[in-house]
Amino acid sequence: MLDDLWFDPGQVLIGGTWQPVADHLGIEDPSTAREIGRIARGGTAEIDAAVAAAEAALRGDWGRLTAAERGRLLTKLGRLVEDKVEVLARLEAADVGKPLSQARADAKALARYLEFYGGAADKVMGETIPYLDGYTVYTLREPHGVTGHIVPWNYPMQIIGRSVGAALAMGNACVLKPAEEACLTALAFADLALQAGFPPGALNVVPGLGEEAGAALSGHAGVHHLSFTGSVGVGALVQAAAARNIVPVTLELGGKSPQVVFEDADLDAALPFLVNAGVQNAGQTCSASSRILVHRSRHDELRERMANAYGALSVGPAMADLRVGPLISARQKEIVTGFLGLAPEAVAATGVLSNSADPAGHFVLPHLLDGLGPDHTLARDEIFGPVQVILPFADEEEAVAIANGTDYGLVASVWSRDGARQMRMAKRLRAGQVFVNNYGAGGGVELPFGGVGKSGHGREKGFEALYGFSVLKTVAAFHG
Ligand code: NAD
Repeated sequence: MLDDLWFDPGQVLIGGTWQPVADHLGIEDPSTAREIGRIARGGTAEIDAAVAAAEAALRGDWGRLTAAERGRLLTKLGRLVEDKVEVLARLEAADVGKPLSQARADAKALARYLEFYGGAADKVMGETIPYLDGYTVYTLREPHGVTGHIVPWNYPMQIIGRSVGAALAMGNACVLKPAEEACLTALAFADLALQAGFPPGALNVVPGLGEEAGAALSGHAGVHHLSFTGSVGVGALVQAAAARNIVPVTLELGGKSPQVVFEDADLDAALPFLVNAGVQNAGQTCSASSRILVHRSRHDELRERMANAYGALSVGPAMADLRVGPLISARQKEIVTGFLGLAPEAVAATGVLSNSADPAGHFVLPHLLDGLGPDHTLARDEIFGPVQVILPFADEEEAVAIANGTDYGLVASVWSRDGARQMRMAKRLRAGQVFVNNYGAGGGVELPFGGVGKSGHGREKGFEALYGFSVLKTVAAFHG
């Protein structure tokens, strides 16, 4: 797979040039647990240099571009990504263990983010404000300056698209720290940005360990905005580091997202969404639906149909492109199997391991659990693996109480034919996104995304992200 690479991934991109580093980290293929290459182990020195390069870019060619020119560069980059979809998909599948067609969808989403933010760059406007006689007052949307982007391993391309794409559209200069487990597509993206003609320093990429490069970036006094996607624990560290420099932070953290199935739900329509939202990317999705709430009158039917669907979930290596691939690492497998060990009696169904699965790969069968109360650890904590819990409810009140009964609030969905109930539930569910008779709405780049509670704060995606990656300045001119 690394034969697909047209540059050395063991370097950092700073100030428009690839630069060597002293230390490296191995890249593991989660489908085989074998090392397939190495990436740079950037640290404080590389982060310092990247921030300095970003500052220079803002003072130089990048800072002088018009919004339309920035938009054209993003659009061009989107086309280069589009041309490389197959290569990017193979790299991601090898690096993250994601089934090939899911990796392909991520690469296409990255291209679509760049198309969207390329088109939006010159459409963000200020306003004029009626004020005292003799004044003209208006607002300007300006970039923060240097933005830091710390990205996890589960959807690198999509998260880079929505955060770096929007930040560049608004004229920020970016320092990107990809996850140590998944750097290849971030590096490929950076090289394509060079090819597209982004001025030196507009985008800098420093792979490395979280506690080294990530901590150096989040605590850097030269960074003016931080976008973090990852776990709650590290999000709290990033927010604390940002607080010391009084820097705004967008946090996209975890979830325990419910789908609420009422007695009048169309189960034929719901079933593929109920299952897929739990097992896509082997459940390693912040917006995975790990809780299926069902009205008691439909419980047995739903359990039986979901169990049948689980029986057809084939698990194997990313390149075999089955429904479910491996988890990212041995550590993640240990975490997920540790959770499953808490309730062996609750297993209602599992997926099936394919013959093509290497015994050394980090495979965990999808598990459907039933018979646990809503306060059980497995029904409350984020597992980040292919595990779904069925939770019956008696009425709308109880459904709302269970759905809102975790620390998280990222995504929720309602399955019902009753329009008034749909509207009530959409208002009452505590989540950043609510879906009615679907789950995820295809993940459109246009849809603002983010959480409440421990799912984080701030919004990415859509036009809303452009406001987040800019600062509003009010100008009041007195002319008499
Ligand atoms: P993680 O928090 O361990 O790592 C995320 C990133 O933070 C990585 O780049 C890592 O290197 C970096 N990091 C680690 N320690 C750091 C430190 N001390 N300082 C600065 N950076 C540091 O998370 P993960 O295991 O990569 O991802 C899993 C979590 O991410 C899950 O909880 C999941 O729900 C969440 N997630 C959320 C979203 C969302 O949009 N809400 C999307 C994807 C993943």
